[in-house]
Amino acid sequence: MSTDTDRRDQLRANLSRVQDAIAAACREAGRSPDSVRLIVVTKNFPAADAAVLVEEGQTDLGENRDQEAAGKAAELAAQGLTPSWHFVGQLQRNKTRSVASYASWVHSIDRTRLVDALDAAATAYGHSVNSLIQVSLDGDTSRGGVTIADLPALADRVAGAQSLRLRGVMAVAPIGWEPRKAFELLAECSRTVRNVEPAASEISAGMSGDYVTAIGCGTTMVRLGRNVLGEREPMA
Ligand SMILES: *Cc1c(COP(=O)(O)O)cnc(C)c1O
Repeated sequence: MSTDTDRRDQLRANLSRVQDAIAAACREAGRSPDSVRLIVVTKNFPAADAAVLVEEGQTDLGENRDQEAAGKAAELAAQGLTPSWHFVGQLQRNKTRSVASYASWVHSIDRTRLVDALDAAATAYGHSVNSLIQVSLDGDTSRGGVTIADLPALADRVAGAQSLRLRGVMAVAPIGWEPRKAFELLAECSRTVRNVEPAASEISAGMSGDYVTAIGCGTTMVRLGRNVLGEREPMA
């Protein structure tokens, strides 16, 4: 058996195990399994892995760095593979043009200047970008996210943008917090955003270590890397 076949079998098994675990967590929470979307975060793994995942039926892939994401999106497109790309990392204004060219979702909108730049880029391409506002739940914005105090104004700004569709909120549980406390606070942030845009009901929360808790707290998008792909080695 070739290494490629081994890797495909491994990814298929991991994907199926994670799908089952998501379905079980949904049942446990009294939710429908199709109320949670799995985004597999392929950062630090090669385009070949991303291609296998798409061939195995995974439709949503996430990346956190533009350079890596742009390359993978192009490689997959060249093979006729067109997953929905989710940009989940901190975003610089000078990368918005590139990101808007391949990402159908951006999870990390956290300041007005970014809103304006991404909106201008999407408008230039003539398409719209599904936009989530990243919230810093503990108020420390050094790893991205808007403070809860500034969330309503930013939501207004995204809702008013020509080519951005306000779809909801995203967060990473702060280090040292009980995940449940983080995800319950994010659910409150979701209500704030739905006061601005009632259809913006997506909640992007839950990573490999805490997604079951996130599902119990109402998340609609889990972002899983290690659980599907294995432990990350820095890419050469
Ligand atoms: C890497 C990453 C993930 C996935 O993390 P895992 O622990 O590998 O599941 C999710 N969200 C963001 C923003 C990430 O950067």
